[in-house]
Amino acid sequence: MMRAIKKGPRKTPTVATVPTGVVFDLRELTVHDGPGIRTTVFLKGCPLRCAWCHNPEGLSPEPQVMRGAGGERPVGQSYTAFELATILNRQALLLRDGGGVTFSGGEPLMQAAFVAAVIDRLEELHVTLDTSGYGTEEDFRLVAGKCDLVLFDLKLMDAEAHRRWTGVDNQPILRNLAALASMKTEFIIRVPLIPGVTDTPENLRAIAQRVIELPKRPRVELLPYNRAAGGKYAACGLEWRPAYDESVAPQANLKPFQELNVEAALA
Ligand code: SF4
Repeated sequence: MMRAIKKGPRKTPTVATVPTGVVFDLRELTVHDGPGIRTTVFLKGCPLRCAWCHNPEGLSPEPQVMRGAGGERPVGQSYTAFELATILNRQALLLRDGGGVTFSGGEPLMQAAFVAAVIDRLEELHVTLDTSGYGTEEDFRLVAGKCDLVLFDLKLMDAEAHRRWTGVDNQPILRNLAALASMKTEFIIRVPLIPGVTDTPENLRAIAQRVIELPKRPRVELLPYNRAAGGKYAACGLEWRPAYDESVAPQANLKPFQELNVEAALA
């Protein structure tokens, strides 16, 4: 089925109003961040501190230097919306063939005005937002409303557990999920499977329950745990000390979803 490509309202950019953003990676030929072959824009800055985060260079909103055995590497480049859209539009011929552009991070909602301005300047391309869902409802609606697909992470339904493992409240996330279910934008819920943390039957059941309460019932994808998560922490000057047992394989338990007739699969 052909997906409708949405266009944001075009604005006439002026030097004073064009927002700038900070990107820590611009990865071409990605295949896991939405349909087809894509270019993924990794935006710098995230308000969460997930214990399992495998992109520590995306946490700080500022450009930084990573230091490792191979030497120093600057991370984080500033672009105007016009500059980034021009780079992405140059790839339009390839990306239009069933693929598109994905905004990921970090958390793209931290740079919502910039992301929205880039999307406004894109040619007819499929746009995906890969988000933790954490941000103001205004920012969320601004960006999600310009996208064709939202990959919405749901980690933990229990409020206290969410604060413990991600450092933030899950209420803004659940509020934005409800907002998304009332919008026209397609969405998929993605659950990172962290052993003993997010993969418990109680948490998966609570996610399935929340899904059936939404006015629109999305597909759920369970994401396997990235065991190389800790690799880049030292280079970012951070300590990798997850309080869960990394040696335990996470449970890809689809039963809680099947019991409530929620379409779910291991991604
Ligand atoms: S939301 Fe994503 S980028 Fe942010 S801390 Fe969690 S895993 Fe890392």
